[in-house]
This record gives sequence, structure tokens and C-alpha cells, in this order.
Amino acid sequence: MLTYLDHNATTPLRPQAREAMLAALDAGGNPSSIHAQGRAARALVEDARKTIADCLGVLPAMVIFTGVGTEANNFAIKGAQVERIIISATEHSCVLEAAQATGKPLEIIPVSSDGVIDLVALENSLSKDEGKVLVCLMLANNETGTIQPVRQAAEIAAQHGALIHTDAVQALGKIPVNFGLLGVDMMTLSAHKVGGPQGVGALILRDGVVLDKYIHGGGQELGRRGGTENVAGIVGFAAAAKAAIGDMPEKQPEIRALRDLFESKLQQVSPDVVIFSNQVERLPNTSYIALKGMNAQTTLINLDLENIAVSTGSACSSGKVTGSRVLAEMGVPDDLRACALRISFGWNSTESDVTKFIEIWQRLVTRHQQNAAA
Ligand code: PLP
Repeated sequence: MLTYLDHNATTPLRPQAREAMLAALDAGGNPSSIHAQGRAARALVEDARKTIADCLGVLPAMVIFTGVGTEANNFAIKGAQVERIIISATEHSCVLEAAQATGKPLEIIPVSSDGVIDLVALENSLSKDEGKVLVCLMLANNETGTIQPVRQAAEIAAQHGALIHTDAVQALGKIPVNFGLLGVDMMTLSAHKVGGPQGVGALILRDGVVLDKYIHGGGQELGRRGGTENVAGIVGFAAAAKAAIGDMPEKQPEIRALRDLFESKLQQVSPDVVIFSNQVERLPNTSYIALKGMNAQTTLINLDLENIAVSTGSACSSGKVTGSRVLAEMGVPDDLRACALRISFGWNSTESDVTKFIEIWQRLVTRHQQNAAA
């Protein structure tokens, strides 16, 4: 049986999402068609929009469905009517690369050794009188789980008349996410991180924020994003988000307890293990670890052979031999970065997943120590 500990890469489909999607797939219809089947498809999309809006405490008209979270980030950044862009050093690669692709002046704000943005540096950068600014600060990091002070950053941005966007892809369903309380102008979400399908996302846009068009086409999404809606995907996204937020008060403390159990057992069997960002507020499901000398790529393959799925840093950058950019920005030395493994729990994780991982980990550590001594 697969021990799946890679929920930050993607989360298994929740039964509620699967059921809702199957019904929508069977119903068919183009939401832009005038006839009864089209109107029924439209009703599914608009119900889903209302559900997502309720999850975040916003109005349905503020929800724009997109193809993926990556598209929503690109839309926010490339569409923002600003002269320059400021991002944190540990944003997802799609934020960094979209910002670079605009060709606008880009400033990257450093983070602490725990991955938390330097708000003083942000304020200093915003104080420069160099035109309208977009600030991008993710709510929670996909590798470390570090939760960023988005509300404080939004206050600073507002004082300087800047727009602020937050990538809340990893935060939704794991910690409370309220658009209004955060005080941001834009927010990105992705269905497959909450137990919905891959290939659906959303951009939440504060009333009054105008973006240049990014996907040209029909008049869908109130004319803001062309393309026939992915009805089944959108319906699955809403069902998953509702389920994730509904069970969050009960489920997330359980997941946190599992993660904490995992980390304490890990420290028992390998006292030298480093756990990144464990001194700051983190997502309850994420553990980012490294044991010096235990190469992450080799360990990942060994775990895979035992049917345990984990990740080396972000799924998008794994396979690259350079190691995690996020850890580099946190000042982690190359030799330790090469050993970083991300373990991320989710809605269907159990204590036996922890037991299995620790059992195999202990075996791998012993083998590594024997090889090192030989
Ligand atoms: N932002 C963050 C923080 C992510 O973790 C991811 C996915 O890994 C994305 C954006 C991209 O989302 P999607 O896979 O829907 O394009």
C-alpha cells in the first residue's frame, strides 16, 4: 500500500469532489449556451463560485476561475497596472518567473533563516518614489510551510498606495483564510491542493482592482478570462474547498499532532536531523527535514522503492540538481540543501504512515552510517 506523504505536491481527490464531478460530467452542457442544458451547467458554475466566495468571505463576483494556480498568479502579476514589482525571496517559481517576464523593475525582499519576509526591507523598498507597485507575498510556503505576515505586509502596502497579491495555494484548507481580514487586493487558489482536481484555480479580485486581460477570448468570467469553463473541475474545486474548510477545525489539529509525532520520532532515531522553519509559525501538515550526508535524491528513491512518496523541495523544481532555491534564500548551506526532504501530511494521513516512514528511515540511516564507517 502506498504511504503518501506528499500532500503539498497534490492531494488525493476528496470523495465529495469526485461525486460532484461525476454528476457534472454526466450532466454536460456549455455554461454559455442559452438552452436548458447550458443554463443547468451555468447554475453549477455559479453555485460553485458562491461556495468558493463563502469559503473566503468574499462576494461571488470577486471569484475568477482559472486553469490552474499558476495561471492565476500569472494573471495577477502580468495584468496588474503597475510600474514595478516587489516579491519575497521564497515565492513559488511561477510568481518569480511571471514577475521577471513582465520586464518591469523587480525587487526581491530577503527572508530570515526561518523563511519569514523582512518587513523593514519591504517598507524601505515601498518608500522609494518610483511609481505604482505590486507586492507579491505568499501566505504559506510550499516547501517549509512558513506562514508569512501577509496582513502586516498588506497594511504597509496600503500605506504606500501599493497593490498586494497573496498566493494562498498552500494555505487554503490548512489555516483560516479570510480575504477581507488579510487586507489583500488579489489572492490565488488551486483546487488540487485542497482535495479537488488538478487543472483548476481561482483568482480572487478585490472590487475596484482592474487587471489587463491575460487570456483573450469569449466573454466568460464576466469578460475577465476567456475560455469555456471547466465545469466539472470547478464543481470539484468547490466541493473539495467546502469539505476542507468544513473539517479544518477538527482535522487540522489531528494533522498537526501527526506531524509533531513524526518529528519527535524522527529526532529520536536521528538526533542530528535538521527541521527547517520549526521555530516560526508553520502549516500544520508540513515537515521539511535534512540529515547531513543523507542525499535527498538517493533517499527519495529508496523511500519510493518502499512505496513511500515524499518530495525533495517543491515538486516543480525536484529533478533539478541545484537543490532548493527557498533554502538557499534562507541561507542553508549547499551540503545540507542537498539532503532536504519534504514530508507533507493530508486529509487521509494516518499514524501508520508515520510508523512506516520512521521504520524505513531508521533502516536507511543505519545503512548510511554503516557505509560511512566502512
Ligand atoms: N503556488 C504555490 C505556493 C504552489 O505550491 C503551487 C503548486 O505547487 C502553485 C502556486 C501552482 O499551482 P498549480 O499547480 O495549480 O498551477
